[in-house]
Amino acid sequence: MVNFSPPMNIWCVGRNYRDHALELNNPVPTRPLIFLKAGSCATVSQKIYLPTWSKEIHHECEIAVQLDHRGDPKSLGLALDLTARDAQSEAKKKGEPWTLAKSFTGACPLTPMVPFDSYEAFANLGLEFKINGKLVQQGSAQQMIFNLQTLVQHIKNLFPVQENDLLLTGTPAGVGPLFVGQKLEAHLSCGLSWNWEVA
Ligand code: ZN
Repeated sequence: MVNFSPPMNIWCVGRNYRDHALELNNPVPTRPLIFLKAGSCATVSQKIYLPTWSKEIHHECEIAVQLDHRGDPKSLGLALDLTARDAQSEAKKKGEPWTLAKSFTGACPLTPMVPFDSYEAFANLGLEFKINGKLVQQGSAQQMIFNLQTLVQHIKNLFPVQENDLLLTGTPAGVGPLFVGQKLEAHLSCGLSWNWEVA
């Protein structure tokens, strides 16, 4: 495990798995769709507190990479890109920004990070996310529409990427609401397992 270094920015990729784009009735993108979560949303707490103003906080379990001073991957783990789906749907309808839906306090629970090996090894990673023991999300980096090299190059070209920034690589299908009392488990095929409780 790598010691946790708080990110300044969390660069997120929307709709990077076809099956998830389709489950939310979104078009499949032709170039990476990037949005931000504030770096201060990142938390290593294993208790998740749901904001009271939303009735629909969805889990989006994603492979996260942490970047070095050159903007290249140095470690990886899993993140929950928590999303207030009700606030996001309303914002989409009105053409407003997603900030409230994606960037509320505690909106990015993280597993511990392990060292990044190679792009080839990354491409073979698979993730699983379970609620109360039941598998709800499953995906492989091979299913990503834009692979990790493309995403890293894209954000380095366009944005002021900083050391320790996180890149969330998108969620597979199976997103859904969280409720108080649920036990959450995330597994990454390199041998990383972690759990949370919705408090
Ligand atoms: Zn996401």
